[in-house]
Amino acid sequence: MLLFKEKVQLKKYLDSQLKQGKKIGFVPTMGALHKGHLSLIEKSKKDCHITVCSIFVNPTQFNNKEDFEKYPITIENDIFLLETHFCDVLFLPSVDEMYVTGLSERKEFDLGFIETVFEGSKRPGHFNGVCTIVEKLLNIVEPNILYLGQKDYQQCIVIKTLLTLMQKSNEIEVKICPTSREENGLAMSSRNKRLNKEEFDKAKVIYKNLLFIKNNLTNTNAKEVLSVAQYNIINAGFSSIDYLSIANANTLAPLNDFDDKTKTVILFAGFISNVRLIDNLLIN
Ligand code: AMP
Repeated sequence: MLLFKEKVQLKKYLDSQLKQGKKIGFVPTMGALHKGHLSLIEKSKKDCHITVCSIFVNPTQFNNKEDFEKYPITIENDIFLLETHFCDVLFLPSVDEMYVTGLSERKEFDLGFIETVFEGSKRPGHFNGVCTIVEKLLNIVEPNILYLGQKDYQQCIVIKTLLTLMQKSNEIEVKICPTSREENGLAMSSRNKRLNKEEFDKAKVIYKNLLFIKNNLTNTNAKEVLSVAQYNIINAGFSSIDYLSIANANTLAPLNDFDDKTKTVILFAGFISNVRLIDNLLIN
């Protein structure tokens, strides 16, 4: 695996590959890699000649100082995992390399409605930080295919919106890969590394209740089913829930009632101890 820390060097290398007609797949991450990330690498390896993974813990997307400071960093293990999964290129830039004149390079994007709900409203500024770094990375890597995880459902919609704003929707294909889960159903996440054994076990209640909602929703009972699930999650040991809702799966407009003709997603975010976990499930 080739490792680049400087964007100029990476760009030079990738330009030479593009000129040879190579197809480039890109998997942007914040590291602390797990099987979810690796499933994206594997998908890219199947589709593309060259798979580029980036690891960069992006300071401008954290609206919570503690979350940023405690974000797990396991770079040696990450490199080992990427090597053993035959990733071709790792881009591992410093903060100065990505924000040459400082963090004030963080841009404002007109993301519209999507930025006003769920993660957008609970983590103000988060998606502008995400778009700032993803725009920079896409301009360096210029991939043919961008691989994202359904685990971050709203982020997938935001990044598709970003591609439209960048006028790159026709150039860069987005492939959304299914959420990889632990044996107990918990969605894999770098933040799971911050859970102790007991918390990790309790956190399975999220997926259990997403399935409960999916299996019990009818056209008339959304409110009741969601409040039972909310009760179950708090009862299992979550300290708070930011949201547990159903929404239109395309627009993320929250839905009061389930209607089986509307493509619907269940979205969850909540805290166990002081670790914030998110998950989602498509219903139809
Ligand atoms: P992160 O390092 O958390 O920023 O995630 C990098 C990419 O991996 C994003 O596209 C995530 O949606 C994706 N990802 C994270 N967790 C999972 C998972 N459990 N299953 C599939 N993809 C994931």
